[in-house]
Amino acid sequence: MEYKTLYNKEKIPVLGIGTWGMGGGMMKSTANDAENIAALKTAIKLGITHIDTAEMYGSGHSEELVGEAIKGVARKKLFITTKVWSTHLSYEGVINACKNSLKRLGLNYVDLYLIHWPNPLFSFEKTMKAMDYLVDNKMTRYIGVSNFSVSQMEKAQKSAKHKIVTNQVEYHLLNRRAGHELLPYCVKNNIILTAYSPLARGKLAQWGYNEALDAIAKKYKKTPAQVALRWLIQQPNTIVIPKASRIEHVKELVGAVGWELLEGYNNKLSIDFS
Ligand code: NAP
Repeated sequence: MEYKTLYNKEKIPVLGIGTWGMGGGMMKSTANDAENIAALKTAIKLGITHIDTAEMYGSGHSEELVGEAIKGVARKKLFITTKVWSTHLSYEGVINACKNSLKRLGLNYVDLYLIHWPNPLFSFEKTMKAMDYLVDNKMTRYIGVSNFSVSQMEKAQKSAKHKIVTNQVEYHLLNRRAGHELLPYCVKNNIILTAYSPLARGKLAQWGYNEALDAIAKKYKKTPAQVALRWLIQQPNTIVIPKASRIEHVKELVGAVGWELLEGYNNKLSIDFS
């Protein structure tokens, strides 16, 4: 595995696995439990130890599946991220949501707890006080946000004692908005940018979707998915959390680490997709 470093120099894996759709969408579904647990177990075996989930995914069932998949794995080897939904951002709401997530995950603490989406109906002051409480009470090691603008990050950070270590946002070759203002802000402030939907929800994993991507993949004996992830991983402060529920897809994800996309090809992709 390759790593980036958090503000305090702790390492965070550049490649994690997402779980949206595992355990259902907005509603719980148990239809593919066995397949999803097998995919997550395979990921861990292959060294993908950062797992991203949320209380909202499958109405909590995604967290239950993660809990099942990590049973028996040394806790310190894992980096578990989960998120509080945007209607639970009152002081008590955040703390209760975290307690419930921990129960479903079967853990005493998560590594990273995120505010899933900002919600103007709640004040940053109270929400961030609750996030601080979670760190102070060892329910999470780190706090962060998701889908926040730079100005929302600044406001949230002003209300928090503990540092916001990441902003998790959509970022991939087909949506490069985060690269313009947010990424430079993260670099300047020692914050990790976690790129979600890094395969553009599967589009960038298809041969034939984009000629330049296919050509570069062939040149490196890689796949389009691996090149698309590599384009993100090579950016400063950036880590990726693609989702894969098929074992062959999980195995393919691992091929995004351990090699370099030369600058010329990197630039070609940036130009081609702009
Ligand atoms: P994604 O990772 O860009 O794409 C996932 C899709 O790609 C799945 O359908 C998967 O199929 C497919 N795939 C993966 N590897 C493949 C391969 N090698 N070949 C062909 N297809 C492949 O999209 P995402 O799930 O939206 O984003 C990733 C994670 O980010 C989510 O799961 C979630 O944890 C997080 N996220 C967070 C937010 C937020 O608001 N914070 C929003 C969206 C997503 P299979 O499942 O069939 O293997």
